[in-house]
Amino acid sequence: MNIKARKAAGGQDKPALSMEDARARILDALEPLVGTETVGLRQALHRVLAEPVTAAIDVPAHTNSAMDGYVVRAADLTEAGATLRMVGESFAGRPFQGRFGAGECVRIMTGAVVPEGGDTVIMQEQTEREGDQIRFHKPAKPGANVRLAGEDIARGDVAMRPGRWLTPADLGVLASAGVPTVCVKRRPKVAFFSTGDELKPVGQTLEPGQIHDSNRYTLFGMLSELGVEIEDLGIVPDERDALDEVLRKAVRFDAVLSTGGASVGDADYVVEALEKLGNLGFWQVAMKPGRPLVFGRIERAWFFGLPGNPVAVMVTFLQFVRPALVTLAGGRPMLPLQMSLPVIGDIRKRPGRREFQRGRLVQTDEGLAVSPFRQQGSGVLRSMSEADCLINLAPELGNVSAGDRVMVEPFAQPVWNGD
Ligand code: AMP
Ligand code: MG
Repeated sequence: MNIKARKAAGGQDKPALSMEDARARILDALEPLVGTETVGLRQALHRVLAEPVTAAIDVPAHTNSAMDGYVVRAADLTEAGATLRMVGESFAGRPFQGRFGAGECVRIMTGAVVPEGGDTVIMQEQTEREGDQIRFHKPAKPGANVRLAGEDIARGDVAMRPGRWLTPADLGVLASAGVPTVCVKRRPKVAFFSTGDELKPVGQTLEPGQIHDSNRYTLFGMLSELGVEIEDLGIVPDERDALDEVLRKAVRFDAVLSTGGASVGDADYVVEALEKLGNLGFWQVAMKPGRPLVFGRIERAWFFGLPGNPVAVMVTFLQFVRPALVTLAGGRPMLPLQMSLPVIGDIRKRPGRREFQRGRLVQTDEGLAVSPFRQQGSGVLRSMSEADCLINLAPELGNVSAGDRVMVEPFAQPVWNGD
């Protein structure tokens, strides 16, 4: 492929890849990284489990009460209004030591060991106490309110399978199973840099025509959430030599992301540099924003040349880079979650390429709907900050009318940032 000729033709000499084909080509090319390490539980958050974890103990470790109340033998409480004698107490962490027999009961708190002889817990709201005499309003349902030892995870069971991307709940499960360390896969080492003569780091004063580099902050945030190891290679000017130099440095990483310089402009050298120093996989995807996406490899480093436009950076990251890095990390990528919702207001669109618009989920009397933002320019990063979803408009779609259903991809964020 002659890049100079393609650029001269405005990149239009060859049809751009569809988004699905581009993603399939990336995911088909990548292999999970080799290598594991054993780390403490807290270090394992958002890492991929490499080996199965076997529970060393039963969870819960002992049969215990799910309620504050009285532990009884169900056989003693076959009728409403029966009375039993309380012979002791069982607290969480301080079990009742004795045994109890027919006609007796033991006061018990939530989480406390169910003493031998008892099989059922009656909640205290269904009892009346007078001294050591406890009156029960109802007959017992055998086994009620008792959590059996090993009911959650039994000793010797596989508590967690390899390939899991460890979540906060997983860390809790592992801790409860008495597992202090786990074997996880090596984290992808990911480097990123921005290209553009107009870019100034935040904290420095802008000269005329300059803008602050925001892409390295967005990328930092999105990469941090994935749990990969990151290195910021800074801002690179729009010069062939400078680009060659940073790409040569980048070969020691598993993946390298650049932003900017991937279009057909006279100062866009990313595709040329990749062709010279590595292998170009593809360039240009039929989507908006995100058309100039570049994918390839330099030695063992996978290269993703993202567009410069801040919104395009985020959209292409979510659609391509995130699933790719999850694959490298040894996990199974989950593609953006989709749901079909009615749209509030019209959407203008030209058929022919996929388009992502920013929107907001809205609760209406008829249920959830999506409201697209008016300002959809791919330079308007605020639209991304205020959005809580992307509206994914298929290539064949033209204008959309209010009330039509569209495909919505909510951002998976842990905190509600709406009004
Ligand atoms: P490019 O892809 O290099 O043609 O850049 C497209 C647009 O994105 C231009 O308006 C750039 O000024 C802008 N841009 C490129 N890189 C960044 C960056 N790191 N931060 C903010 N805006 C950028
Ligand atoms: Mg540029």
